[in-house]
Amino acid sequence: MKYTLASLQTRSPHQPPLSITEATMEPVAVLDFCSTCGHDLRQLRGVWPKECPNTACKTVHYHPVHTVVLGLIYDDQGPLIIQRGIEPGKGGWAFPGGYQNYGETIEQAAIREIWEEIGITVEPAALQYFGSALSNTGNKSLVFFVARVPDLEQQPRRLCPTETLDSAIATTGSQLCFPSHQDMLAKFFETHAR
Ligand SMILES: [Zn+2]
Repeated sequence: MKYTLASLQTRSPHQPPLSITEATMEPVAVLDFCSTCGHDLRQLRGVWPKECPNTACKTVHYHPVHTVVLGLIYDDQGPLIIQRGIEPGKGGWAFPGGYQNYGETIEQAAIREIWEEIGITVEPAALQYFGSALSNTGNKSLVFFVARVPDLEQQPRRLCPTETLDSAIATTGSQLCFPSHQDMLAKFFETHAR
């Protein structure tokens, strides 16, 4: 049995965002024809993974899922948040993070993204899994880490000139631009009592 990733046909910017219902049916990728043999797969719209009905092929196509890693780096005051300089959520506040690259573990990706976005070094031993969530389109797996960085307020910050507009220490009243980040902020203050 052969396994391939479904080819990505991205949505036009003129199309409205996917609703959760649509997302559940056909998240982002559309694969109407088998990329191995060309067989018509339209009868499998909304079905993932898709096994090619051509009995001579039977290739199984999986929907691509991307991993996004986020870091809640904190000291006694609370976790650090950044004001985003790029979409989605441009101008809003969120935890620093980004896509896992090919060849990286999720821990390496989290350390790299925190370094790229705010210039703070997190030691691998300080990084701990905190929780996960799905994007509303279902094709991104969000993995949240916590890392205690002593004297966070005194650490020099080097904001990424293109991706990060500002940084701050979050409080219980901070408004974040993604619901999953807001949930993790609440969980942080529940589990990391000061
Ligand atoms: Zn096929």
